[in-house]
Amino acid sequence: MAQLTIESPRESEDKWIPSFCMMCMQADDGTLVHIEDGVVTNIIGNPDCPTNLGKVCLRSISSIMGLYNPYRVKAPLKRTNPEKGPDIDPGWVEISWDEALNIVAEKLRKIREEDPRKLLVWEGWGCAESLFITPKEVERATNYEVPGQIFAEAFGTPNVVGSHGPTCSIHYAANLVHGQHPEYISDLEHCDYLIAPGRTVGPNVATPGATRRFIQAIERGMKLVTIDPRCSVEASKGYRWIPIRPGTELAFALSMIHVILYEIRKFDIWFIKNRTNGPYLIGPDGYYVRDSETRKPLVWDPIDKKAKTFDDPSIKDYALEGEYFVGGTKTKPAFQLIKERMKEYTPEWAEKITSVPAETIRTTTKEFVEHAMIGSTIEIDGFTFPLRPAQIAGSGRGAVSHKGGMYFDLCTKIINMLVGAMEVPGGATGNRNPGPCAETLRPNEDGIVKPILEAIGVPWKFPPDHVDMAEFYPTKHTAPHLAVRAILNPEEYYLTYPIEAFLICGANPIRAICDAEIFIEAFKKVPFIVAISTQFDETTMMADIVLPESYFLERKFCRFYLVVHQSIADDVRGLEMALCRNPVPPLFNTMQIDEIIIELADRAGFLKGPGGLNDVINRTFMLTDHRKLDLDKRYSFDEIVDRRIKQIFGDEHSLEEGLKKGFIYKFSATGKKGYNYYYWPDNKTRHPIYFEYTKKTGDTLRENLKKYNVKIPGWKEEELDNFFEYFEPIPKWIPNAEFEAPPEYDLWVANWKTPFMPFATGGTQENPWLAELRENDPYEMFIHINTETAKKKGIKDGDWVEVESRYGKTKGRAKLTELIHPEVIGIPACYGRGTILMNPVAKEGPPFNVLMTAKENIALDPLSGTIDVGPRVKIRKIEEEAR
Ligand code: SF4
Repeated sequence: MAQLTIESPRESEDKWIPSFCMMCMQADDGTLVHIEDGVVTNIIGNPDCPTNLGKVCLRSISSIMGLYNPYRVKAPLKRTNPEKGPDIDPGWVEISWDEALNIVAEKLRKIREEDPRKLLVWEGWGCAESLFITPKEVERATNYEVPGQIFAEAFGTPNVVGSHGPTCSIHYAANLVHGQHPEYISDLEHCDYLIAPGRTVGPNVATPGATRRFIQAIERGMKLVTIDPRCSVEASKGYRWIPIRPGTELAFALSMIHVILYEIRKFDIWFIKNRTNGPYLIGPDGYYVRDSETRKPLVWDPIDKKAKTFDDPSIKDYALEGEYFVGGTKTKPAFQLIKERMKEYTPEWAEKITSVPAETIRTTTKEFVEHAMIGSTIEIDGFTFPLRPAQIAGSGRGAVSHKGGMYFDLCTKIINMLVGAMEVPGGATGNRNPGPCAETLRPNEDGIVKPILEAIGVPWKFPPDHVDMAEFYPTKHTAPHLAVRAILNPEEYYLTYPIEAFLICGANPIRAICDAEIFIEAFKKVPFIVAISTQFDETTMMADIVLPESYFLERKFCRFYLVVHQSIADDVRGLEMALCRNPVPPLFNTMQIDEIIIELADRAGFLKGPGGLNDVINRTFMLTDHRKLDLDKRYSFDEIVDRRIKQIFGDEHSLEEGLKKGFIYKFSATGKKGYNYYYWPDNKTRHPIYFEYTKKTGDTLRENLKKYNVKIPGWKEEELDNFFEYFEPIPKWIPNAEFEAPPEYDLWVANWKTPFMPFATGGTQENPWLAELRENDPYEMFIHINTETAKKKGIKDGDWVEVESRYGKTKGRAKLTELIHPEVIGIPACYGRGTILMNPVAKEGPPFNVLMTAKENIALDPLSGTIDVGPRVKIRKIEEEAR
């Protein structure tokens, strides 16, 4: 193997170069990198970058140690040991780039000729800035209806599996209700009361921009209510921390709806009547009742006492409650059905499930409604908006990543709609670029915002095309846990073709998910694995060929800014930006990922011509006129990026210009244009508060199962009713399997991202500076247990303990704290993994993932495909020598 040698000549100047950070999935913070005699000595925030205004987090400067990490992959490698395992020496031998690329390209060419589906592309946050590997939908500013990935589309495989989503399926509700992706922006500038269940609004993972906005809102007087099993940094700065049992946030949200509808009895009636499908009449079958001629949904006009189509200009009022006979059929407004379902979810009922006192639920809900100031307005740039300065922030990983978690997320939408806090100042507002993206709120023929991306659902096909079982989980996020099960048991999963190769790009599914042994077995079964990687993580160790990717600081790159997940970004509303990075001198024989992809596509014969990589790039980036790539020419990555910059910002701009400053940006929508309500005011569009589309997705799937006489893989026949309970048009409480755990599993477990390792992106787990910092943090590397609970179990601060779920065990040192729910054990981040070729610090700390399972009928939410991250556990003290 290559030694740590500097292969390129060192430069002698002392200079600062514009760059941007990629030490987490956000990758949106502009930096300045100091280079002295060819060596990187410092990284600071770029003060002119609009996202971070000169600030960076602790991870950014630590990336210096990622660059100079002696454990990096330094040259193309070929495996000589046929035996595979994360801790088995692969017997790497160094080969030339030419040989490595030819081996891979030859394999790709053969598979593509036979059946392109036999290639599975694994992608992860490690390649988040790649333009050709990351999902295409995040690259599209205006058209959300075309999911996929540039490389995979050109190759022809439907099999792209993200290793980053199975415990983070947060998109469905936003895709369905807001027509937005990845989620929405909490309008902190005007919000006075923010309820944040199971999520960070930025500071918990130390993102500079979101932290700044959060602090400004707190200083302005915004009240933050955190619903979380543990008291996070954010919660400590907030107004109220509500400790809750993991996975019961749905019960809390259902009860909030009950309190609004049955106790407070005050909600935004105008909004429900004019901006939602709440007045639409629903028949006994659960679907809209439609006009027999126009097929438009009907509503009931209580003044004229008759049913009318939803857009009839003669409507004098809409009935929200009651029952009405239309054409001899008994119908009810959707709102009436929602109200009926919520009747049983009293705060007393929710207290038993959540452990949150009924009075806390009542008080919080009452304050929430009061702060929403229903009926108030605000003028921005001469335009009058409804003002709703209160909202509940959905999409929290801690609350959504449970069986039933997607119902929780849908409930947060209902709560916001009940007070009218949607797409208006103070409320939950549209993501990305309002203006260009406001088009996604255009109503469909039923008058409702069209679902996008994951909410649309993958069309049925049998036998299934997708190895990740997308046909059986049509609205799932990413499902690597299903892909590996299908590879191992193709018959049970109806897979009619074998997976013959993996292309792994910045992904480490063996570590990132649970059931690692199943992943390892599936990886052993696949004949050819190529990893594009910077480090010898568990997944790279299973490869046959390793293509070394340049560390991000070495990559000349341009990333097109996206409003990030689980962050607050209201002061960058409407920002369109290309972040540009000047490379530092490369250390080893590496290449940047998109150049590798161009090279592979060219050698394997799918770069050029119709349907080739160039063609897909043209379509995805919507390149027009002279900016379009010639289908028969090979372009460098720089040339492609330059054309895209010109397409977005105009021909007078260029990559060269971006590299000089570190970015090119414009604000495409500010002031009143920053709110989607401006484009679709009054009753011009409606959001679904009754999720008829969800029901249709489930019913269609059920019909197809019947028609093809098949079952959902991994579920027993008698469990199918339970599977389809998650596709109902109104959320409901369904106890998950953990409620049935034997009494000895008397606690729950919770996990959260931390500033030291929100993701493994950039190699955080083996970064020695981050390791030094985290070891000095009094909470980071410990197993958290409530002081009283610990006392009852005879556990003292610093004792070694073992935590066991029904699926696995982990060990670590106890941290006694009042900052966690008495029935919950807390394990931060994703520690305790690594391989023999990684920095040993990677193996420090207690691993959390071993406590989970992804067995479908136990732990999966059928709607989102997420794995339940909150199993029941027991804890015991162990002797130090037993650890
Ligand atoms: S938040 Fe992420 S992108 Fe920003 S400085 Fe920190 S690690 Fe880098």
